[in-house]
Amino acid sequence: QKELLKVKNLKQYFPIKGGFFGRTVNHVKAVDDVSFEIKEGETLSLVGESGCGKSTTGRAILRLDDPTEGTIEFNGEDLLALNKKEMRNRRKDIQVIFQDPYASLNPRQSVYQILAEAMEIQNVVPKQKRRERAIELLETVGLNGDQVDRYPHEFSGGQRQRIGIARALAVEPKLIICDEAVSALDVSVQAQVLNLLKKLQREFNLTFLFIAHDLGVVRHISDRIIVMYLGKVVEIADKKTLFENPQHPYTKALLSAIPTPDPEVKKERIVLEGDVPSPINPPSGCRFHTRCPFATEVCAEKVPELKNHGFMEEGHRAACHHVDEIASGELGPKY
Ligand code: SF4
Ligand code: MG
Repeated sequence: QKELLKVKNLKQYFPIKGGFFGRTVNHVKAVDDVSFEIKEGETLSLVGESGCGKSTTGRAILRLDDPTEGTIEFNGEDLLALNKKEMRNRRKDIQVIFQDPYASLNPRQSVYQILAEAMEIQNVVPKQKRRERAIELLETVGLNGDQVDRYPHEFSGGQRQRIGIARALAVEPKLIICDEAVSALDVSVQAQVLNLLKKLQREFNLTFLFIAHDLGVVRHISDRIIVMYLGKVVEIADKKTLFENPQHPYTKALLSAIPTPDPEVKKERIVLEGDVPSPINPPSGCRFHTRCPFATEVCAEKVPELKNHGFMEEGHRAACHHVDEIASGELGPKY
């Protein structure tokens, strides 16, 4: 399968101004040297607590914010080299669905107007066909075509998210970035929307970048998962490996926090202390060392490399100095 998106050494440092002259006195290192690629038709998830840089990464791909450093290649083309107008055209291929569909749907526009506007901006459907296409799109996302002249407030949260999905589909994108797309929905509605996304993926050969703070949410939809902490990738693996054989203490902690559907699976419980530190002057060495129950001296001194530690499955990488000793039981948690 071909690689659709390639993110390399992405850095996003936001300046903090201060002092008498409004000089840059510091930086928020929101994303700090992140690399990954997504294959066509794949669902890759970025997971981590708020402030880990997952949404910032999504925004950089959409070029809502230009990154400080790094490259973003889409379909073999350098996205960062495009000017504003070229990038607007590329938005036909890269769509986004946000957490709160209500905030991103204009309340004064009917569903028809919302969908027709998307088609018009990207020039995908001729004017006289737009209504028919809008009705078809509504049915594709499991809504009733008769509802095309209704307004966003007449729909439930889950239905509004379906309208957001229909709008994204209207321009026939290749990649959809789902930024906490189901986080605000009830669990049962969440499952329905996730199932819909899976179905649409098969039907239209869509590629998804799924951004979420909760590993439970991305469990069923993901092919591969990246766990981020304070702007860094700490672990990457295919879904099965990540859930059954996680190696990074932070991933294990996130997994401890979600209920296990299978009581047979014995989970190693890892309890985290405190909150995520500030991304301004993040902790030295391994950024997780201030909260990691396995931390030793070296953890505060050296940045661990994201790598495959030999005994791990192919494609599985973790950034931790002590992966081997933790796996063998030589190094236990300090509780
Ligand atoms: Fe914990 Fe050290 Fe591994 Fe970081 S490098 S996750 S602090 S054991
Ligand atoms: Mg976010």
